[in-house]
Amino acid sequence: MDFPIPVLCCTCNRPIFGKWKSFLERVKAYRKQDGRPESGDLEYLTTTTKVTAEGRALNDLGLTMECCRVKFLSHPGI
Ligand SMILES: [Zn+2]
Repeated sequence: MDFPIPVLCCTCNRPIFGKWKSFLERVKAYRKQDGRPESGDLEYLTTTTKVTAEGRALNDLGLTMECCRVKFLSHPGI
């Protein structure tokens, strides 16, 4: 299913749409690095995980605001 991501963050008005594709690519790569399947449920932090694959991808793209991060993490396409 292809569900659209908003063009702008509806809370802070920053453009987020352009980062969606590279976010998905990075998440895929980091999940592979962590030995997780490419698609699946989001993983919560454990005692051995400091930053999840999704968190690292968001940090790489400079998405530091919680309002923007939630748009990516709550998207059904991830
Ligand atoms: Zn935002």
